[in-house]
Amino acid sequence: MKEDFLHYVWKYKLFNTSELLTQSDEQIEIINFGFHNTDAGPDFFNGKVKIGKTTWAGNIEIHINSSDWTKHNHYSDKAYDNVILHVVYNDDVVINDKNENAIPTLELKGLIDISLIDKYDVLINRSDSDWIPCGQQIKTVDDFIIQNWINRLAIERLERKSQEIQETLKLNKNNWEETFYQYLFKYFGLKVNALPFELLAKNTPLKIIEKHNDIFSIEALLYGQAGYLEEEIESEYYTQLKKEYHFLKSKFSLTPLDKSLWKLLRLRPSNFPTIRISQLANLLSNNTRLFTKIIEIKPVKGIQQLFVAQTSEYWRAHYQFGVEAKDKKIKKIGINTINNIIINVIVPFTFVYGKAKQNEELINKSLSLLENIKAENNSIVEKWGELGVKSSNAMQTQSLIELKNNYCSQKKCLNCSIGNQIIQQ
Ligand code: SF4
Repeated sequence: MKEDFLHYVWKYKLFNTSELLTQSDEQIEIINFGFHNTDAGPDFFNGKVKIGKTTWAGNIEIHINSSDWTKHNHYSDKAYDNVILHVVYNDDVVINDKNENAIPTLELKGLIDISLIDKYDVLINRSDSDWIPCGQQIKTVDDFIIQNWINRLAIERLERKSQEIQETLKLNKNNWEETFYQYLFKYFGLKVNALPFELLAKNTPLKIIEKHNDIFSIEALLYGQAGYLEEEIESEYYTQLKKEYHFLKSKFSLTPLDKSLWKLLRLRPSNFPTIRISQLANLLSNNTRLFTKIIEIKPVKGIQQLFVAQTSEYWRAHYQFGVEAKDKKIKKIGINTINNIIINVIVPFTFVYGKAKQNEELINKSLSLLENIKAENNSIVEKWGELGVKSSNAMQTQSLIELKNNYCSQKKCLNCSIGNQIIQQ
């Protein structure tokens, strides 16, 4: 048994509350169970209990064994001076306060329905081989409860992403365009090259990019800064880029990244960093103040349209510098990449910006964008589908990713509506 389970039992009053007694047989009446404190300090704040004839107001501390009080050093911690009731599963030793008076203790052993303990045990302790702990039981949960819970998680995911964005915004002195530009690069790199793309953006400030509006100069800046223009390659285009970069490098005192940061392993050639950089250069050359533009566009189709950028001519016949490709084709940013950018960058940015400007319309727009993008196709979404939890749009797939990563994988079933239903049904 874990303490979390006892918190859960206490919070939802899942034990026999009639005729409660302390360790010294004084009657206990719980007037207020208090509110759950998930930070440091006592487990429940502002409770109210009547012990014998006296009513006490203060905090409630919960442990598996009463001896945990000493193990956790609460005796010398002032934060626990105002504990009015010690709730334990097993009262193995008398605990005194600083004045050497016994702290009133309530033992829960025998008061919790055994079937509740069993269901908890099956869910948390006997499910290690399953993809998610409730894999065997989820089919017994009302669809209405699952859908309601999933809807809440989409907002929770956005709130979590918002915090990250706000931290980067602070570092960028509240410059929305610059911060957006860095996130855009990061997500353009997919998982494999997210870090070098992020470093490339940070190493090449947007204000320098914005001094140029032709794709060639922006490509020279980006390839140069990415470390791609430090070699000798026989190619007219490469030589011109190199010349331009060396001029810009000294003009803006730039330092390139190390080319070895870029990874090609398991990447389809159309996702090679060289191709992505050219597409980004095209996008940036056609759109100054990209973030401001995006905030003003309402329908998802409009944003998808804005991102239809392709590589420059050289890349029609290449995937890497100096290596001629067998196939020759225009390499546009694909719809899946665009949707990925909308889901991971544009939606959270619109949400954070809406909150910062107290603009309900923008907050709603961020949610509506998610609802209007088709469901993502990845292994997590697929697995949920096999368990009968289907999704029809990106709002639902984002929620399911959040559920898997931040609840199921961490066995936070007691904080999940689905887990609550399984344990209490
Ligand atoms: S967190 Fe919820 S959905 Fe995930 S395994 Fe636990 S009960 Fe199931």
